[in-house]
Amino acid sequence: MTHKLKIAVQKSGRLNEDSLKLLKDCGIKVENGGDKLKSTAFGFPLEVLFLRNSDIPQYVEDGVVHLGIIGENVLLEAQSDVEIVQKLGFARCRLSLAVPKEVEYTGVDWLNGKRIATSYPVAINQYLSVKGIEAELHLINGSVEIAPAIGLADAVCDLVSSGNTLFSNGLKEVEVLLKSEAILISHKNLAPEIAALRSSLHFRIQSVLNARSYKYVLLNCPEDKLDSIKKILPGMKSPSVLPLAEKGWVSVHSVVQEDDFWNIIDALKANGAEGILIIPIEKMIY
Ligand code: ATP
Ligand code: MG
Repeated sequence: MTHKLKIAVQKSGRLNEDSLKLLKDCGIKVENGGDKLKSTAFGFPLEVLFLRNSDIPQYVEDGVVHLGIIGENVLLEAQSDVEIVQKLGFARCRLSLAVPKEVEYTGVDWLNGKRIATSYPVAINQYLSVKGIEAELHLINGSVEIAPAIGLADAVCDLVSSGNTLFSNGLKEVEVLLKSEAILISHKNLAPEIAALRSSLHFRIQSVLNARSYKYVLLNCPEDKLDSIKKILPGMKSPSVLPLAEKGWVSVHSVVQEDDFWNIIDALKANGAEGILIIPIEKMIY
């Protein structure tokens, strides 16, 4: 019998597209077949189940599926007993408290005795109990941001990415409770054959994530600037240095991390680098 790994991804919503893109970059093609609950993948022994994000943690805990891609904050709310395998770097957002913009917010104590509308009771309760605040929670599923305007609440606790939704509803963000991104979760007790498949999928995912967070850099510089340029470019081991046809000049190849990308480029220019080329990396295998 050939074994298959089962993974749950969000059926529709913010995580769906990026989850399938991640699999695709891992060489795994999945048809997001309209109303279908299940789809067999090509390029890996994998079956994909399309489910509500909020339902996925329970399915993973129960072992109905082996893996799932969910928002970190969803796992906090579900409190399911699963293993977090990997942070995936997309669907980044924060869970925040917001109040009407005209409110003179003086700090968390302001929330004492107030009504807070949210879809995330576990996170807000943890936060309030740590801060020693007593507030009244109003659980709403969806469109939490309109609650103050219709007189249902004094504050909201909701997910924010750009802040545009809060702004256009006359709210301002006053506290950040937690940060969230998509994560890969796993059932805790996988059979050995399934665990082996999980390792091999995880390896592919890591290669894709590494590649996404790095860029390949090529530049030219005078030989006498090479030492200072090398200090700016750590690279995987050390940069490759090739002579140019023009005497006294070299070409330097290396990889840089996306995070401090512009700082590195500025430093390179300031140290005499010319003709800088930045190239995306497709996969990165250590
Ligand atoms: P489902 O309806 O499938 O159970 P959901 O209602 O959480 O799940 P989405 O609104 O699509 O579905 O959000 C999916 C996840 O995307 C969230 O749980 C959160 O982790 C993340 N996310 C990123 N940015 C935002 C944002 N601005 N608002 C809401 N969620 C966001
Ligand atoms: Mg939803």
